[in-house]
Amino acid sequence: MAYKFIDNYREKGARKRLVDILAKKGIDDERVLHAIGKVPRHYFFDETFWNQAYKDIAFPIGEGQTISQPYTVAYQTQLLHVNKNDKVLEIGTGSGYQTCILLELGANVYTIERQEKLYERTKQVLPYMGYKPNFFLGDGSRGIEAHAPYDKIIVTAGAPTVPEILLKQLKVGGLLIIPVGSESEQKMVTILKVAENDYEKVVLDTFRFVPLVGDKAW
Ligand code: SAM
Repeated sequence: MAYKFIDNYREKGARKRLVDILAKKGIDDERVLHAIGKVPRHYFFDETFWNQAYKDIAFPIGEGQTISQPYTVAYQTQLLHVNKNDKVLEIGTGSGYQTCILLELGANVYTIERQEKLYERTKQVLPYMGYKPNFFLGDGSRGIEAHAPYDKIIVTAGAPTVPEILLKQLKVGGLLIIPVGSESEQKMVTILKVAENDYEKVVLDTFRFVPLVGDKAW
């Protein structure tokens, strides 16, 4: 894939229109909308497909995976209530677009991807764009114990159940956002860790994610 980093009036205008679309669809966290307005989503596409970059759609990124639909990214990010300097574990780096949104919100991001090609590509591309998370290659369904505990954990692939091990890696007061369901359809679930062994779970809207594949997943 040939990346090109030019952000001119055409892309900026399209990005502004995307922000308006997301606001109309119910995203009302101004910080999240601002972050979507800042990250050049077309940088994650081959130039041939730049005309697709600001549509509110998921798009193939290779290895059978997708860059998530902007609405889904905004929805999950809004639920995460990111504060500046929050330590956030992202499971499923993929293109790195969601990673950049988290970084724009001031999070300290630990991101893990199981597909080596995607990991290598994103690790190379994001720093070019000025985004510097901590990259990991491996099975994120087990979290990353070595850097736990986290303020927030976001899972960007669909899980059959909530991996208990992720709850253990949350700080008390921390939040996990994870799509849970079948391989074809999931409900967005938020889990707040209110005390060491006490959790508050909320089940929200339906989404369609690629499967979370791993030891504690599919
Ligand atoms: N947030 C990403 C983006 O904006 O591009 C979305 C990525 S895609 C919907 C989900 C990603 O999760 C895929 O890249 C997939 O390879 C990855 N994945 C699936 N199971 C995983 C696991 N156990 N550990 C780490 N990554 C995983």
